[in-house]
Amino acid sequence: MTSPSSSPPRRLGEFALIAKLFAPLSANDPGAFALTDDAAIVGLPDGHDLVVTKDMLVEGVHFLRDDPPDFVAKKALRVNLSDLAAKGATPKNYLLGLSLAPWIADDWLARFAAGLADDQKRFAVTLSGGDTTATTGPLTLSVTAFGTVPSGRMVRRKGARPRDAVFVSGSIGDAGAGLAVLKGEGVGLSDFDRSALISRYQLPEPRVALGRALLGLASSALDVSDGLLADLDHIANVSGVRIAVDAVKIPVSSATRALWGHGQETVLRAATAGDDYEIAFTAAASARARIAELSRTSGVAITEIGRVEAGGGAHLLDERGKPIAVPRAGFTHF
Ligand code: ADP
Ligand code: MG
Repeated sequence: MTSPSSSPPRRLGEFALIAKLFAPLSANDPGAFALTDDAAIVGLPDGHDLVVTKDMLVEGVHFLRDDPPDFVAKKALRVNLSDLAAKGATPKNYLLGLSLAPWIADDWLARFAAGLADDQKRFAVTLSGGDTTATTGPLTLSVTAFGTVPSGRMVRRKGARPRDAVFVSGSIGDAGAGLAVLKGEGVGLSDFDRSALISRYQLPEPRVALGRALLGLASSALDVSDGLLADLDHIANVSGVRIAVDAVKIPVSSATRALWGHGQETVLRAATAGDDYEIAFTAAASARARIAELSRTSGVAITEIGRVEAGGGAHLLDERGKPIAVPRAGFTHF
């Protein structure tokens, strides 16, 4: 959304903006003091750890100027909730950092705040504070989210053991496929598949309930943001194990297959695309039945895609168990 004229867009002053748009988002939390103090208080139930995470989003990198402002807000929040979910944490509240680009007007900010209000209800979180600056560069936002877990129980990336099985929630590659559609791929695709893929890119669904249920079940976990193989490689490296993934077992949706085809190339592209915000985790083989039950009760598909072995790194294997060369395992910023 660009300003129609060359004059700067209408924008409330900094403090009016905070009072009008952001203070209402803190209303459910007395510790936020209606955003009238220098800092907020985050209470912690006895016997719990505070789990903290931060993700930044930059215009042109993580979202586009024309994306709906409420979607941008939700994505900024949800990518953080996804981190908390993967750690088995229950999300509680968050801080919002904004560096406003010159093209941002009041209307954009109001729709942005409305998006946050929606998701606050959906995920039971509240705003505790933040910081607001202006920049001549791209819009940049950052959310720091806080959650709780019973003390010492946070699910780590480190913890995968040889003979564990490897699982992933949902389907892999849809967000990457959605981005490809936005960039002009998939001319013959059905409207249904197009919008399904685009919404997977614009609006990830953090697996909060699933993540909490994995406490005590998963030996290691992370959320898939950079690409399934790149992220499993992180688990392998920090756990000091080898992770073998069977390409045919990776859950790729019918919409992504409709866009990219049914071959191994599609699986490879899906497993390196990123932005999935699914949970990849390892668990003892003896936990299989409980995990299948969890999938049924949560309504989120959980697919067993491989196994943990002695060795190093994450490896993609074909049906005969031969390694498939992966040119680029996932996204890196630089
Ligand atoms: P200070 O100058 O003491 O750092 P600020 O004037 O930046 O404080 O902020 C005043 C209040 O408004 C604080 O409670 C702060 O947390 C809150 N705040 C500022 N920007 C934001 C934002 N983008 N989102 C939420 N709260 C904000
Ligand atoms: Mg201050």
